Amino acid sequence: MNVINVDHLVIGAGFAGLCAAIKLDQAGECDFVVIEKGSDVGGTWRDNTYPGAACDVPSQLYSYSFAPNPDWSMSFSPQPEILAYIKRVADESGTLDRFVFDTLVEDATWDDAAQRWTVRTGSSAGGGTTYSARTVISGAGGLSAPKLPDIAGIESFGGELFHSAEWDHEVDLAGKRVAVIGTGASSIQIVPAIQEKVAHLDVYQRTAPYVIPRNDRRYSRLERLALKKVPGLQRLYRTGIYWAREGYVPAFTMAPKLAMPAQKMALANIRKGIKDPALRAAVTPDYQIGCKRILISNTYYPALGSDNCDVVTDPIAEITPTGIVTADGTARDVDVLIIATGFHTTELPIAEKVTGRSGRPLAAKWNESGMSAFKGTAVADFPNLFFIVGPNTGLGHSSMVFMIESQVSYIVDALRTMRTEGHGSVEVTAAAEQAWSADLQRRMKRTVWSSGGCASWYLDKHGNNTTLWPRSTFAFRGETASFDPDVYTVSAVSTTQDPQAGPTKREAVSS
Ligand code: NAP
Repeated sequence: MNVINVDHLVIGAGFAGLCAAIKLDQAGECDFVVIEKGSDVGGTWRDNTYPGAACDVPSQLYSYSFAPNPDWSMSFSPQPEILAYIKRVADESGTLDRFVFDTLVEDATWDDAAQRWTVRTGSSAGGGTTYSARTVISGAGGLSAPKLPDIAGIESFGGELFHSAEWDHEVDLAGKRVAVIGTGASSIQIVPAIQEKVAHLDVYQRTAPYVIPRNDRRYSRLERLALKKVPGLQRLYRTGIYWAREGYVPAFTMAPKLAMPAQKMALANIRKGIKDPALRAAVTPDYQIGCKRILISNTYYPALGSDNCDVVTDPIAEITPTGIVTADGTARDVDVLIIATGFHTTELPIAEKVTGRSGRPLAAKWNESGMSAFKGTAVADFPNLFFIVGPNTGLGHSSMVFMIESQVSYIVDALRTMRTEGHGSVEVTAAAEQAWSADLQRRMKRTVWSSGGCASWYLDKHGNNTTLWPRSTFAFRGETASFDPDVYTVSAVSTTQDPQAGPTKREAVSS
């Protein structure tokens, strides 16, 4: 078997994996590969190409701190611009020579004797490569595996059917009867983008979301010039947005009543966008704002209120070859069925593939006790494995790129410590991991995500919120400021590796 030795193997080439590659390179940890299942960088911003796709976090903040972009056209950028930004940063980083595209991680198994990960990959072109890596850094993301609804008969549907994250651009929606299942962040962008084009649109709503106005605007040429030329201006602007967003944290985490003005704004947005009292009632949420992700749109409610659109609130009973039947017995014909039902978030698919020191898959551990990781990054029984965007690092109010940079900085510090101290492996203690999770779950009790009266993808089957971060993002930055060797079990370097040797060339060995 041909095995390629590398120091570090990064999984995924989205915002997280690319950030890891850049920061590893800058730290002199140059011997790495980035394994990416798609054919380019971009992650979720490469995959989500549905009409209307855009970010609901301001672009100035939803970008790397080390790669500011004065050229954003809008305050909330559309998907093509974000993808172009990620590609440009990747091109300019000088790291793309170590990216391996169209390749899936099949499994990763810890070899305790060698103190290395054995990672088997498969290429979409056929064949595969096995890597032996000192560390594995997962940037596989929480929103990368589309989730299809468990609805009877879905496989029998005879028309066109696709998930929002796998949009089929070959399908022309003009003049068709289209149904959208789901009313989350993706759906509220899709619905207004396609409503005028289709003959008829049925929007199947299980739970009404809160949708507040989208205060988006185009930057003028003068503004963009100023952001480019005036020293410090863009950083100041970004900092202002950052702190304004941090101001929302108490409303989510401690005192949901603070969000009442936003709730009023959302209800006013319904009144402004929809005339029909029955439809207004149907789309009015019955839980506290913030319990689910707060969405932003000026066009969603007007689209729902248009003549060719119906909001269906009766539960779906089954999908037939020709359409959808609801619990009240009504059958509606559908030519194109768009599934906007979200992603596998509380059972990360990557966990199925990773087997730790005791021979147990990570998914088995997380299935039993819920997804958890110390600082969202390290898991007991899984030495030298680091997560970016791991458990409890998601946000309801600010930019994931901030969290990604925090975690990558922590990981790079861990690698620096391993090298300087001569550690072959570092493994967080079970006690530290449990104490971290217990503290998070204690804090969760006060949050609107737990007390707001809704069910959401933030919660796992045990009812625990294993996805969101229940504190300020600067608290997370503080927690991840430096590696904490005191709560890790370390082992000396094995004979098969020499941490003092510095970055090495990749070499192929036979075994
Ligand atoms: P989502 O927020 O999980 O929404 C899924 C929708 O599908 C919900 O309305 C859900 O209803 C509904 N649903 C799920 N299963 C169903 C079933 N069996 N029958 C009927 N309805 C069902 O998914 P998403 O809209 O794709 O967004 C996922 C996440 O992606 C967002 O929360 C956000 O973090 C991210 N996102 C971000 C942006 C951005 O601008 N930054 C844009 C899009 C997405 P219930 O509410 O009743 O569960």
